[in-house]
Amino acid sequence: MTATVPDAATIRNALQEAHTQFKDVADGQNASYIPYLANVPSSLFGLAVTTVDGKIFEAGDTRYEFAIESISKVFSLALVMEEMGPEDLRAKVGADPTGLPFNSVVAIELHNGKPLTPLVNAGAMATVSLVKAATPNERWQKLLTMCSRFAGRQLSLNQEVYKSEAASNFHNRAIAWLLYSYGTMYSDPIETCDVYTKQCSIGITTADLATMGATLAADGLNPVTRSRVLNSDNVPHILAEMTMEGLYTSSGDWAYEVGLPGKSGVGGGLLAVAPGVLAISSFSPPLDPVGNSVRGMQAIKYIAAKLKLNVYLNEAACVVA
Ligand code: GLN
Repeated sequence: MTATVPDAATIRNALQEAHTQFKDVADGQNASYIPYLANVPSSLFGLAVTTVDGKIFEAGDTRYEFAIESISKVFSLALVMEEMGPEDLRAKVGADPTGLPFNSVVAIELHNGKPLTPLVNAGAMATVSLVKAATPNERWQKLLTMCSRFAGRQLSLNQEVYKSEAASNFHNRAIAWLLYSYGTMYSDPIETCDVYTKQCSIGITTADLATMGATLAADGLNPVTRSRVLNSDNVPHILAEMTMEGLYTSSGDWAYEVGLPGKSGVGGGLLAVAPGVLAISSFSPPLDPVGNSVRGMQAIKYIAAKLKLNVYLNEAACVVA
């Protein structure tokens, strides 16, 4: 991977080219199991980059607020890792891929109630249940504050998304009770599921998402606000989790093709982090059957290749050869 931030024109061109090339891709479908998401215009398409020196580049619909959904799992993971330390969290939740869909009950049963990763629904709810708080509202406020610090602005709950998801999240409630039955849910299951549903309903823009990722690329320092959001020692653990499970059962293919830690959400957001350099974000609602944004994956793959950001690629060796 290149170790330096590419120049502004190179980033701007890569974003624009990707936007032009993939904006008419018609594959995939909006998530429909959360009624609100089914009605978000499928043609919306935004791409953004935030660099570790705090510059933001955008193409397309980058100021439309969409539901963060599963991308929020990265930030609940960050909060709890900060609070209890990586090893305690890993012992309780795990740091391995499940090899099964993000809402799998089978994965829980196969591992005696251990979710394996904070980046699937079960692991995210177990992680949320570990946030140190006296009340569910305090737990929610801490999560919202953490996401806001990553984004560099005060984020808020999208009430419509929340209402839609809270009225239809029966499967997640079942997961919460299943974890509870195994002793791997550390607060009231239904209250925890509700806080998790709220964290998934936070509204973000594509530009916010790029800055959230750039905070990880910059070792935990938000490069736009210049404030430290998390301990730099925790960042590699979070990026490792993203590599293993960030795109669910497509995480291996994503590592093979793109070579960057990533995270998707069923709201259509997708994030990729190039450590020490920048983060790329995209928003496009139609998803593949795994739950990853179709245009987003194509566009980020294109941009990462253009900017030579694969972490497994030794750019120096390529130049010498
Ligand atoms: N809120 C969604 C759920 O719990 C998040 C899933 C996702 O984005 N993959 O199902």
